[in-house]
Amino acid sequence: MTNILRMSKLYAPTLKEDPADAEIASHRLLLRAGMIRKTASGVYTFLPLGQRVLAKVSNIVREEMNAINSQEIMMPALQPAELWHESGRWDDYGPELMRLNDRHDHGMCLGPTHEELITALIRNELRSYKELPCSLYQIQVKFRDEIRPRFGLLRSREFIMKDAYSFHATQESLQETYDDMSRAYGNICERCGLDYRPVEADSGQIGGKVTTEFMALASAGEAELVHCTCGYAANTEAGECVTIPTVYEAAGIEKISTPGIHTIEELAGFLNIPETSTVKALSGKDAEGKLVVFFVPGDHELNDIKADRVVPGFDFLTDEEMEAFGLFKGSMGPVGLPEGARVIADRCLQNVAQWVVGANEEGYHYVGARLGVDFTVDEWADLCVVKPGDSCPNCGLPLGGARGIEVSQVFQLGTKYSVAMGANFMDEDGTEKPFIMGCYGVGVSRTVAAVVEQYNDEYGIKWPVSIAPAHVCVIPLTVGDELVEPAAEKIAAELAGIGFEVVIDDRNERAGVKFADADLIGWPLQIVVGKRGLADGKVEVKRRQTGEKKDIALSALAELMAFAKRNIKKNASGKGTFDALFA
Ligand code: ATP
Ligand code: MG
Repeated sequence: MTNILRMSKLYAPTLKEDPADAEIASHRLLLRAGMIRKTASGVYTFLPLGQRVLAKVSNIVREEMNAINSQEIMMPALQPAELWHESGRWDDYGPELMRLNDRHDHGMCLGPTHEELITALIRNELRSYKELPCSLYQIQVKFRDEIRPRFGLLRSREFIMKDAYSFHATQESLQETYDDMSRAYGNICERCGLDYRPVEADSGQIGGKVTTEFMALASAGEAELVHCTCGYAANTEAGECVTIPTVYEAAGIEKISTPGIHTIEELAGFLNIPETSTVKALSGKDAEGKLVVFFVPGDHELNDIKADRVVPGFDFLTDEEMEAFGLFKGSMGPVGLPEGARVIADRCLQNVAQWVVGANEEGYHYVGARLGVDFTVDEWADLCVVKPGDSCPNCGLPLGGARGIEVSQVFQLGTKYSVAMGANFMDEDGTEKPFIMGCYGVGVSRTVAAVVEQYNDEYGIKWPVSIAPAHVCVIPLTVGDELVEPAAEKIAAELAGIGFEVVIDDRNERAGVKFADADLIGWPLQIVVGKRGLADGKVEVKRRQTGEKKDIALSALAELMAFAKRNIKKNASGKGTFDALFA
């Protein structure tokens, strides 16, 4: 039979006041709407409404995974340390890994991710290329002892992730699954109603290169992005930097006294030139301790990840080390560097014939230092952190900036885990080869928070229909009234009968309380049943997303709602579901 939620029975303790430690909208509103409760720092309980939303996101994820032939499994959260020793990550992962000992003193951990476990699983089970490709996923709790758990569900220590892993005989096969996963991840974002961008990302220490992050655009997001109208988008950690420095033309090389000038800002101010006409130097050492000096356009920062890629093991010099090399902080330049220094400059400086740069002498800079005449560069590389205003590497237009929440990531792992853990299959040619792997993660609980970041106002949450805890809230204005109450019950039953998820606010509360809670919880549609309206044969409907209100004749309601119900299926995120009511 149809199942109507009753506010009188629902465990949804709403809060009138903002919780003190909740800085951002999603954290604040999920608490206030009675959807989650904090158990410990970064550890949350999902109350019935929060659990309903979580289940809806999970189901969308599940449908999209099943549609690309990934098979659902469930691995344990509790994992033996041995597997992590095999992969080398017991030592590499650091304090984020939640470690414990069992009663026999066996090392264990609570899984932050499951590459080790699944590689150990399939190495005993998958034997032949004929069984490949194979794609498996689970929706499960993950543990990461984050250094700063914050923002509620956005960065917690225990959270729900969908993680998928795929195994392949060839790179082409991996690419196919990776493309399928990427499409599915786009669908998931869309069906949850998210405004999102797939962005070029950095692969971190996992190794491998091909990876895409799916970013929900939100000012509360921790990631910085650049994006272009042509469709290009990148995490600033990873994006290629194309910038065009301005040239300060001088008659020739000239040493200028710059007393007390140490920063680019001071130098540009002192010379009265734009920062884009200056060149910044950064000194460091390679893994063997040899001197490396990087040069980047003055208005840009060196990207540590890129520096490490060009000079593996790169580290900045301490003040003492700089002194030992005879270098002056704030006055470093390419002219007169110590013998044997490796000089690496950003590609964008390659066409800048004259540099404004440090003179390797305390209190002096050069203007007009000539590339190829006064100094040379050993290597050119993409070194900078890209920023808004730089040129799009695809089309050359200026890039825009935005902040994003990483809701998911797809990743080509290659053979890192299969080689480390001896996971091989028999290929067509009869030789043993390590599996080629991909891994793919969706932050299910983080997605819930990301949606709230995009769908809220001063009154509360405005859920997209697709993941709302229920579709429609029927609000009888006077409980116990002999006309209002039965009319509201009848409407609720009818709507439930045509397949809507319906909640009825049957509490003996003032209308104002019911309206406030309905707005706070964020049901997509409210149907207000009052005495006066009924006398005219009408109810008032309110669409939460737009705030539109309209009186609808009771006689027309069922038909309009039946039409809306069909719309839900058509619109993945439920956008426009209730258009007919407000036409
Ligand atoms: P972040 O950079 O935000 O720490 P990550 O890149 O380390 O995340 P992945 O290993 O890619 O995370 O995990 C897959 C997904 O799990 C992420 O895209 C994110 O949505 C989610 N996730 C990761 N860490 C957390 C967390 N602490 N709380 C909630 N969700 C998380
Ligand atoms: Mg990630």
